[in-house]
Amino acid sequence: MSLLNMVKEAGIVGAGGAGFPTHAKLAAKAEYLLLNGAECEPLLRVDQQLLELFPDEIIKGLEAAGKLVGASKALLGIKSKHKEVIALLKKRINALQVEDFIEIKELEDVYPAGDEQVLVYELTGRIVPEAGLPIQVGCVVINAETALNIYRATKKEPVTEKYITVAGDIPKPLTVKVPVGTPIKDVLKLSGIENFANYAVIDGGPMMGTVMSSLDGYVTKKMKGLVILKKQHYLIRKKSLSREQVRRVNKTSCGQCRMCTDMCPRYLLGHNIQPHKMMRIVNYALDDLRGQKMAYLCCQCNLCELFSCPIGLYPKAANLDIKENLMEKGIRFDSGPTEFKARKSREYRLVPSKRLIARLALRDFDKPAPITEVTIKPETVYIAKSQHVGAPAIPVVSVGDHVNTGQMIGKIPENNLGATIHASISGTVAEIGNAFIAIRRD
Ligand code: SF4
Ligand code: SF4
Repeated sequence: MSLLNMVKEAGIVGAGGAGFPTHAKLAAKAEYLLLNGAECEPLLRVDQQLLELFPDEIIKGLEAAGKLVGASKALLGIKSKHKEVIALLKKRINALQVEDFIEIKELEDVYPAGDEQVLVYELTGRIVPEAGLPIQVGCVVINAETALNIYRATKKEPVTEKYITVAGDIPKPLTVKVPVGTPIKDVLKLSGIENFANYAVIDGGPMMGTVMSSLDGYVTKKMKGLVILKKQHYLIRKKSLSREQVRRVNKTSCGQCRMCTDMCPRYLLGHNIQPHKMMRIVNYALDDLRGQKMAYLCCQCNLCELFSCPIGLYPKAANLDIKENLMEKGIRFDSGPTEFKARKSREYRLVPSKRLIARLALRDFDKPAPITEVTIKPETVYIAKSQHVGAPAIPVVSVGDHVNTGQMIGKIPENNLGATIHASISGTVAEIGNAFIAIRRD
């Protein structure tokens, strides 16, 4: 079987949070294959530890993926602060004799170093066009855990487990490997907190993650972290406002200082995104549709709302409102120029992670979250049919069937983008619902 088919069969999706099916990415031809090991979300500690624990597997996965896309070079981006991991990776790259193909590129400890377009610029000096994809400048980007999964696919091991950091205002942050489909409440129990009445949980990192409205969900292949904070914590209060409340706040006192624009990572790459103008549009009901299209250029990194705006307004939300309005009207972004130049001020406007963590009131919780061997054995797993970009998987099992760990239980619908799903425990198919396939342990 070809490597591309192995990746497809293994159900690999972007493990960094986006969930784009990896086989679709690797079907392209590219000059560079980039590994995103930046892990720039505060408190999350998955990739940096996987690179340390499984250097050979990740290097081999990266090499295989790089060769598959026909890359002349694979570049591994990792923050300079991870000195020991970098030394280990260099040693293993030499030992595996792939130094001519794989190169380590060190990144500054800034946010959002892991934004795909920022990473492409930092590693290659190229700028992805507005609303474009890295492939347009000859790059394919994969995450460290995705590279590990590609290696495992070559050993015929599908994706049945996920590494998740559990962090925040808890006694002992940790990173664990759990079966896909595990109830989130089972993972949260590892935090040492018994009663969550006074706590809220962010699904993902503190910057881009969202506050979970219910803790009744299940682990998916793209989950990366669960950040637990007291309900009165600044970040939870800020992230818990409704869209309507945010709109009201945004109507108060934007002074058009431009800080949101001047520090926007996509603006600094030379794109024409200007969130301060979005604030102007929502507040004064301006109807310049051409100008509004820049709302499509936001990557939702949240820097403008959680760091840049000196008075705590929500320019990203203004962007989102405008974008949704344009989409409703069927107005799309028309691609313009293909060449961009980073703004001269960029190097002075990068946001150091430490300052961001202090601003988010997370300094007390910025601790190691070591990978810990704890075995979670859920009685029943609920495997989402849709945990990726594209169409939901179609069940290939029936209620009452016995399945083994790693067995395919859902396939990609014909002629669609999607990802296969697999049993993460051995047991009996207990239920096939609209959204999940439930498997009860033997
Ligand atoms: S969230 Fe704000 S800072 Fe980030 S890309 Fe969008 S407008 Fe720019
Ligand atoms: S939203 Fe905030 S940062 Fe942006 S222009 Fe208005 S006051 Fe300044």
